[in-house]
Amino acid sequence: MHTIDLRSDTVSKPSPDMLAYMQSIDQSLIGDDVFGEDQLVNELQTTAAKLFGMEAALFCPSGTMTNQIAIHLHTGPGTEVICHEQSHVFLYEGGGIAANSGASCLLQYGNNGVFSAAAVEAAIRKDDVHFPRTKLVCIENTVNRGGGACWDFNEIEKIAKVCQNNQLAFHLDGARIFNALIAKNENALQYGNQFDSISICLSKGLGAPIGSLLLGNQAFIYNAKRIRKRWGGGMRQAGYMAAAGLFALNNNIKRLEIDHLRAKQIEKQLTHIGGLKEILPVETNIVIFEMLNLGLVQKLINHLQLHQIKANHIGNNRIRFVLHLNQSNEDIARVCEVLSHFSI
Ligand SMILES: *Cc1c(COP(=O)(O)O)cnc(C)c1O
Repeated sequence: MHTIDLRSDTVSKPSPDMLAYMQSIDQSLIGDDVFGEDQLVNELQTTAAKLFGMEAALFCPSGTMTNQIAIHLHTGPGTEVICHEQSHVFLYEGGGIAANSGASCLLQYGNNGVFSAAAVEAAIRKDDVHFPRTKLVCIENTVNRGGGACWDFNEIEKIAKVCQNNQLAFHLDGARIFNALIAKNENALQYGNQFDSISICLSKGLGAPIGSLLLGNQAFIYNAKRIRKRWGGGMRQAGYMAAAGLFALNNNIKRLEIDHLRAKQIEKQLTHIGGLKEILPVETNIVIFEMLNLGLVQKLINHLQLHQIKANHIGNNRIRFVLHLNQSNEDIARVCEVLSHFSI
């Protein structure tokens, strides 16, 4: 019996097709990307920028780096970022906003990681020597800790307006933006229009082994390249990884709907288990549910483990399942079967 890994979509490995593509690339296209000479990296950057209708893109080792570079360029010491208390940039990037950029956060709460334009407007600091200067609004779509929740695009447009009227930058942590596009039947170009910068991940549901892209205008990406180098993220023959990224963008977006259907399937099964408190609304490839107490969380995780299924406790008596392309219909059937045998 093989292990089914529901801990994260970051655990996904390249499919045989992707691996074959990586091996089939013309070696003459590979070069030193710090010199800008890797043609596959350049193609990946151009492809991603075009997809979102933005001027330029930069290939980076991780989504943490793309987010942190963007925040660094949009802010500075004594400035403030408006973001959600559950957001990756605040919670999971090692305190990078403070450590890398000297900025503080004004946090938003509730609603599964989503907040309103009115809340943003109310959070903007007045020009007063006591206050930090508000510089940036950062949102996450889909919201990881919000159970893969999608933003309402109308609200994004409204926040973009508020940002424009108040000279604030607007950054999208789009680690799973393609899940949102598929779930809401939206277009990447819509998003490129609203944001000053966008971070997208290739190594989550899209199945590439490594890599994220930062998108923005020419001047922004020119500066981003300098910060990437300073922080040790300049990569040399990165074209092999860029090939995986190109394969991911060209082949693995549409299939995300399969992960979304499987998430719904698991959600349905979960409604029957004992000890359940609530399931966050399932919109994409993430299922987050809360058990009545910590003992039940451990009991369920042990029960899954016994059947070679890995899942994460993410705190607050909550367990997270994440669907991705390394799982099969049989795997999902097994997960449901194992859940059906859980007794408290
Ligand atoms: C995974 C993720 C990132 C980037 O994470 P890395 O592991 O650094 O690539 C950023 N934001 C969100 C919401 C994520 O889920």
